[in-house]
Amino acid sequence: MDSNYTVLARKYRSQDFKSLIGQDVLVKTLTTAINTGRIAHAYIFTGIRGTGKTSTARILAKALNCLSSDGPTANPCGVCENCRAIAAGQHIDVMEIDAASHTGVDNMRDILDAAQYRPTNGRYKVYIIDEVHMLSTSAFNALLKTLEEPPEHVIFILATTEIRKVPVTILSRCQRFDLVRVPVETLKKHFAWIASQENIELSDGANELLARAADGSVRDGLSLLDQAIAQTGGHVDEKSVLEMLKRADRGVVVGFMETLLSGDVSTALAKSDEIYNNGADLSMLLTDMMEWTHWATRMHPAIRAGNIDTVPYTADQREQIQKINSRVSLNTLSRIWQVMVAAVPEMQASANQKQCFDMLIVRLMHIAEMPSVPEILEKQKSTTPQTAPQKTPEPTVAQKLSITSANDLANALQSSKEILLYSYYTSNLEVTEISDGVIKYFDRRGDADFAHKLATWLENKTGHAWQLQRETESPHKQTVTEQKKEELESDPLVASAMDLFADAEIVGVK
Ligand SMILES: [Zn+2]
Repeated sequence: MDSNYTVLARKYRSQDFKSLIGQDVLVKTLTTAINTGRIAHAYIFTGIRGTGKTSTARILAKALNCLSSDGPTANPCGVCENCRAIAAGQHIDVMEIDAASHTGVDNMRDILDAAQYRPTNGRYKVYIIDEVHMLSTSAFNALLKTLEEPPEHVIFILATTEIRKVPVTILSRCQRFDLVRVPVETLKKHFAWIASQENIELSDGANELLARAADGSVRDGLSLLDQAIAQTGGHVDEKSVLEMLKRADRGVVVGFMETLLSGDVSTALAKSDEIYNNGADLSMLLTDMMEWTHWATRMHPAIRAGNIDTVPYTADQREQIQKINSRVSLNTLSRIWQVMVAAVPEMQASANQKQCFDMLIVRLMHIAEMPSVPEILEKQKSTTPQTAPQKTPEPTVAQKLSITSANDLANALQSSKEILLYSYYTSNLEVTEISDGVIKYFDRRGDADFAHKLATWLENKTGHAWQLQRETESPHKQTVTEQKKEELESDPLVASAMDLFADAEIVGVK
């Protein structure tokens, strides 16, 4: 590599609004404002690192000071004295200040005192304050004083990655622009163009990986591309990028998830060894598995609608995901996700990532196999039919309801969708006696309307009048909900589920 090598991010830094990558809304708003002469005294640009905040600030400084027209222009020429000096960061009237190293109030006062003098070569004195959230409170106060009454010829351009740390008093005096994460497709197009300019071979798969790893930041993506070019001598393919990023191939991740969800522990652990031995970073693998889980969850409804073309996997992989998805419930995917999220800090803190990862695999497989709560209840229903809720068809004259236990009544209310009566009954009533036509009970809440409503409903359903006898003192019996909860807690399946989640507690039975 020759010693004059300029990093790509600097070499291909946007020099005008047209070449700003992925910030269409900002470009449109700013150029319209400049073209119509509506120039604010203070701007604030916010967004993640590498989205173009400083580039935009410099382009704006050029637009304000370009000599190619009589006033500010949305199309700075790029070649006049002012444009060139600003691009090189050497213009006398354009000050770039890194707030991180000028946090103190004295620094800020010196800078602001100088702002009172007229510009030397430009129309405006432009102050670009990068990472402005780093300023001290007193420095912010000094800045605020100037922002309240800015000299005619002064423009402030503030940039920050952490807008929430900037005082509201400052924000309210600035025109705010949010720079968005640059979409993967836009990044890919940009990287492909740069590769062609540089005579670099960049395969589509490699480009996709780089664009995803960049996570919306043009600068991060370009430094990864720099690194890939240096490592491969200019033939950047998927394999070399995977190696560089220490990531497993997408196909490997999909295959691994399939094994994991199939419940075959020994194969899953063997595959985990293999991926690890091939040099993949296990934290990255976990990230990839999370990405996969996210997509599989997102696609769950799409599969039913037959629309999965927008998913960033190859056709083969999509087919595989579709196959896995048809076997896994949304519920399981969401539980898997929760366990993965919890494992991220665990992996980071662990001295032995491999151990930690293997244990995670076992936990995930346990979850994939574990029945969901509705499935548990379903199972309970089939083993204890006499107490299980029964779907009661609408009674005809010939087929009337027969209610002989507290549970019968709960089931009948539930299947008739009498939700209010059902929930009041199951959580407040201690039934002491129930037979066809008579209920003796204690009502813990004592709602005057309840007895009347229940009696009417019973009469309609059973075809004869009911006698509701309310006790005045509690017989200290359980409500239907309390009974069900106790039964559930003693069920071995539920007990094993409760063991998995240390602080779990049954808060309701539905
Ligand atoms: Zn110019």
